[in-house]
Amino acid sequence: MRRAIDGASGFVLGAHLSIAGGPGRGFPGAVDEARALGATALQIFTRSPSVWRARTIDTAEAAAFRASASACGLRFVAVHAIYLLNLATPDDALYERSVAALVLEMQRAEALGADCVVTHLGAHRGSGVEKGVARVVAGIVRVLAAARRVGLLLETSAGSGTTVGGRFGEIATIVERVADERVAVCFDTCHAFAAGHDLRTARAVEATLRRFDRAVGLERLRLVHLNDAAHGLGSRRDRHEHLGRGAIGSGLASLVRHPALERVPFILETPKTLDGRRAADAVNLRWARNARRSEEGS
Ligand SMILES: [Zn+2]
Ligand SMILES: [Zn+2]
Repeated sequence: MRRAIDGASGFVLGAHLSIAGGPGRGFPGAVDEARALGATALQIFTRSPSVWRARTIDTAEAAAFRASASACGLRFVAVHAIYLLNLATPDDALYERSVAALVLEMQRAEALGADCVVTHLGAHRGSGVEKGVARVVAGIVRVLAAARRVGLLLETSAGSGTTVGGRFGEIATIVERVADERVAVCFDTCHAFAAGHDLRTARAVEATLRRFDRAVGLERLRLVHLNDAAHGLGSRRDRHEHLGRGAIGSGLASLVRHPALERVPFILETPKTLDGRRAADAVNLRWARNARRSEEGS
């Protein structure tokens, strides 16, 4: 059966854009760039992802962001949590700091009118998967108790070192034990591939999504980080590549047009320069739109 899918019919697609870079850019700069790219989704860090300290967002700034995001037709806004936090760590001081940082991310996302916070789960550092998962669950329960409507998306990991979240079963256990509708999953294609989940062909995509469905449930897949991978299947190495130019290649197109993901937002985290030029996001967004529009089986 060959069925054309209209790319314009509600494809929620965008990129991770920076709020930094030049005086006066800030939050409005990211929204302006999203608009220029024709994006309907946006992901941002609300502060530097590699330091604990965060500047507060004032009320006027948050209101301006909410107004401009809705005026430019953004249908999905995600806040990516800082990289430093580790909810699986056996180190109590780091754990407490991580829970507090994630609570803050939820509150900032709420103020900005974002739909969700995306977070990595962290690494158990030798204490074992079971203990790591239990720490993550307890941490998330505390975070949710301090938050309101914003969703919390747990990102699939590349499975490197002792990180939690490379196996669908780990994610499933966490989602199940937390048992809160606000908690769902961000499926990062580069991470999943690096963790050993094949996505290189239409058949591989189908099999991987089926396994995800059996373990976690596709209804919990609420965001895709759409990235090609610089390294091979099961490499455990997290390096993103431009769409169609990495080790996953054209299989990503099958994922983009998979009927089960029709209503799921896609956000690119691909490199910002391509062949020495800075218009990489536009090129990758076009690749994704073409993938969505192309006919099945072609
Ligand atoms: Zn991430
Ligand atoms: Zn990554």
